[in-house]
Amino acid sequence: MKRKIAVIGGGVVGTSVAWHLAQRDAGEIVLLERDQLGSGTTWHSAGNINWIPGHDAILTMIETIPEVEKESDQEVGWLQTGRLFLASKDATLDSFRPMAAAAEARRFVHAMLDPQEAAGRHPLLDADALAGAWFNGMSGRLNPADITAAYAKAARRRGVTISEGCSVTDIELRNGRVAGLKTTNGDLAVDTMVVCCGLWSRRLLSKLGLLLPQWGCEHFYVIARTNKRLDRSTPSFVSPDAAVYGREEVGDLLFGCFDDNAITLTGPHGAPPDDFSFSLLDDNWNQFAPYAEQAAWLFPSLQTAEIRRFVNGPETFTPDGEPLLGAYGNIEGLHVASAMNSGGVTYSALAGHVITDAILESPTPKFDPAPYAPDRFATRACDEVWLREAVSQAPSSHYRSLYD
Ligand SMILES: Cc1cc2nc3c(=O)[nH]c(=O)nc-3n(C[C@H](O)[C@H](O)[C@H](O)COP(=O)(O)OP(=O)(O)OC[C@H]3O[C@@H](n4cnc5c(N)ncnc54)[C@H](O)[C@@H]3O)c2cc1C
Repeated sequence: MKRKIAVIGGGVVGTSVAWHLAQRDAGEIVLLERDQLGSGTTWHSAGNINWIPGHDAILTMIETIPEVEKESDQEVGWLQTGRLFLASKDATLDSFRPMAAAAEARRFVHAMLDPQEAAGRHPLLDADALAGAWFNGMSGRLNPADITAAYAKAARRRGVTISEGCSVTDIELRNGRVAGLKTTNGDLAVDTMVVCCGLWSRRLLSKLGLLLPQWGCEHFYVIARTNKRLDRSTPSFVSPDAAVYGREEVGDLLFGCFDDNAITLTGPHGAPPDDFSFSLLDDNWNQFAPYAEQAAWLFPSLQTAEIRRFVNGPETFTPDGEPLLGAYGNIEGLHVASAMNSGGVTYSALAGHVITDAILESPTPKFDPAPYAPDRFATRACDEVWLREAVSQAPSSHYRSLYD
């Protein structure tokens, strides 16, 4: 008998999961989205996809892009600009060398650069602020709304039913397994469900007395207009020393940060209100200012730039900076793909594979699911004080650890 699968939440993760399930003919699949596809966090994502040696799940995303474009007949705005890893200290530059060796071993385009060479690749960059840089060619960006639409189109073509304007209000269990859903459009009998509700996943599952180890935090980038227009092909950048990253955006410079002591949301279960669609939080210059100063030191023309937009979009984090992917709560048929730690576009293909392998009980899963197990924090997830404190440290500590 065919499984009846509901994917709940139509962001970049839910649409990817639905498509990956359909590709492997996992069952009869419906995707239920409360508002419109991409209306949660996905619509304002910066859309960067950056390979970091040792994190090969990211390569899967880069491989997935042409596949989903082909299946959907739709482009997703992928631009492989490469990324400059900026070092302001010799020790940081040394920490890039193993990554350069890993890229070399795979014959990927890359280069260790002295300060002048690095500045030669980015017209706003100040060579005097650098000890050197590593150029990593396996990086770029895409349009998050476009890839969400492409996943959805490819999923529909494979028979997935997508219902927008349909909110899941309750989950029905029978004999320890998923039996159905209550939705604003009526009841639905299902035997398998995947919770892809981003910021709202913990709140939905709390109806079952389950507390996912995730919490929402404020997360920012700004778009600045300097005295020079940037070419689209300008490489993106990351500075682990300054905890800032960025890229070109329609000729302007987009830059954001992974802040220390990130501000956790105060709403129940760390989520904004249910009607927070296509919405942002208020600008938070107090929190962002130290990182803006660091960015202006690397890119001096930012000192006089016009800030055209401040994007403070909440994002979900976990204590260890890894997403929550897989079966959850010892309830048969219940799966979770949530808490993407500001990497949901990048991790969307990984989420698709891990969830599909879990539902199909594949003996040879493409990825080891253990690092992503949603129950890996055990009962500590119930301790809200511990969780909020741990999550508040996660953006900066996890970000720095990626480059150690
Ligand atoms: C400032 C910022 C910059 C970022 N930059 C990057 C980047 O450069 N690269 C990258 O990879 N990632 C980036 N991210 C992270 C990325 O945007 C997110 O991780 C990703 O969008 C999360 O996708 P999602 O599908 O899990 O959640 P969402 O997009 O929030 O989707 C969840 C959906 O679930 C729906 N939903 C909720 N409850 C219910 C319910 N009860 N019933 C039905 N539907 C429901 C919501 O309406 C929503 O549409 C960034 C995030 C921020 C905030």
